[in-house]
Amino acid sequence: MTTAAKTETNSKEGKAVLLKQYIGGKWIDGKDSREIKSVNPADSRQVLAVFKGASREDALSALEAAQKAYPGWKSVPAPKRARYLDAVVRLARHKKEDLARIMTREEGKILPEALGEMEKGINLLEWFAGEGLRFMGQTAPSELAKNLLYTIREPLGVVSIITPWNFPWAIPCWKIAPALVAGNTLVFKPASCTPWMAAEFVKLFEEAGIPPGVINLVLGSGSAVGDVLVEDPRVKAVSFTGSNEIGTRVHELAGKRGARATCEMGGKNPCVVWEDADMDLALAGVMKGAFGSTGQRCTATSRLIIHEKVADGFIRRMIEQLKKFKVGDGMKPGIDMGPAVDKGQHETNIRYIEKGKQEGADLIFGGKCLQGPEHKHGFFVEPTLFDHVSDSMTVFQEEIFGPVLCIRRVKTFEEALESANCVIFGLTSAIYTQDISLAMRFVEEMEAGMVHINSPTIGGEAQVPFGGVKASGVGEREMAKEGILFFSQPKTVFLDYTGAKRKSSIY
Ligand code: NAP
Repeated sequence: MTTAAKTETNSKEGKAVLLKQYIGGKWIDGKDSREIKSVNPADSRQVLAVFKGASREDALSALEAAQKAYPGWKSVPAPKRARYLDAVVRLARHKKEDLARIMTREEGKILPEALGEMEKGINLLEWFAGEGLRFMGQTAPSELAKNLLYTIREPLGVVSIITPWNFPWAIPCWKIAPALVAGNTLVFKPASCTPWMAAEFVKLFEEAGIPPGVINLVLGSGSAVGDVLVEDPRVKAVSFTGSNEIGTRVHELAGKRGARATCEMGGKNPCVVWEDADMDLALAGVMKGAFGSTGQRCTATSRLIIHEKVADGFIRRMIEQLKKFKVGDGMKPGIDMGPAVDKGQHETNIRYIEKGKQEGADLIFGGKCLQGPEHKHGFFVEPTLFDHVSDSMTVFQEEIFGPVLCIRRVKTFEEALESANCVIFGLTSAIYTQDISLAMRFVEEMEAGMVHINSPTIGGEAQVPFGGVKASGVGEREMAKEGILFFSQPKTVFLDYTGAKRKSSIY
């Protein structure tokens, strides 16, 4: 077996792995002459992985390999296609701890969060493996006698999968598993800063014996290969998760030539804490939602909308907890929050914090880069609280994607709703209250794809749709039945068997 990972250059923790492209069942070097490095965000001196980036030609070769493999893969019955996912589930369970450690070192999230993500991805693979047995159409009563009217579901062809870095295991699971079970072949382009996890993901499929060309991996920058993977006429659908800026462009380009596109994008998720809330529960939910995964979740809580009567006490308790919060290398035990994923995201966090101060928000906790001996080589920023933020401030409107929570105090429920809905995004939301009428009103009036009552804004489950409205998402939702509907199309069959009956009566 060729290998994706040969040891090469030195890093503090050992050797960096040499990654390759996986095209047509072979691991090959990218044709771009530039070498791309994946570094540990907790200590950027550690080079974890290096690779020669994919060029436009590599992306075209990957599409060709996928196109070649398509007729064969399409003809494998769906339950058998699903068996490959079963095999990947077994392998992933076995390697869970190792993969979680790679994830923490490459993306920065703390190890317990990485282990949680591994479990989530495995659940998704299991769900979609089950869908192989349920990949069915419908029968319908025909208006004509002796007619069988039914539908079957068919794959689309070659599809492109473009993913971000923040869930480098779970997002590929929830996109690639339904694409494969539905009978498509694919080209997978992960984010450039988490290539190692992507290569490990693909290796599991290789180990499970997936035929060459069914899954192809292109490791290269979005600017080099993105347009090919969206615009090539062989690509029948694009499943994208990432920023609003890129996602909108992907949707436009795919839409122009009639290809399907689903784009899951950013969020600016509100959590409303009402005066009657269970404050312990709400506090735990807001802390987890805002600072879990360093705030680098599309579902992170980035706006706390709180009743003014309980705001002071709640904020005091948050600050007490944040004072004990340990920020550091997520591989170490006892760490509550890891670094920003890279230099660019770190700078973005600091830029927004400065903007918040300039616009008059009250910085009441954090706000600085961490520069001590444990932190100076990583991309660490303090968990940050802004109080007395108004709806119009930039930090209240734009996605920061870091550990920055903006607090808006309100007097009435109408004001809370208005504030919750005043942004372009609509991914997820939460409310903490004991009043079922208020909770149900929030469900009805909140402009979001997901609503949590008395639980944090984060999370999703394989069996229910995941995704947002407004600028947070376009196209079909992901996970659940919707996940597989996106990657397949119905064919309606009209079968008139009156002739057949006459024939059989003759003989
Ligand atoms: P990003 O910069 O938009 O990148 C996402 C992916 O698109 C990466 O693989 C990137 O490659 C690629 N890309 C870049 N330019 C491209 C182009 N011209 N054509 C096609 N693809 C291109 O987003 P990110 O920084 O990785 O991820 C953070 C964002 O993802 C946040 O906004 C977050 O809210 C969102 N997100 C949304 C969800 C959801 O389900 N709604 C879930 C997770 C994250 P390179 O890395 O090589 O640039």
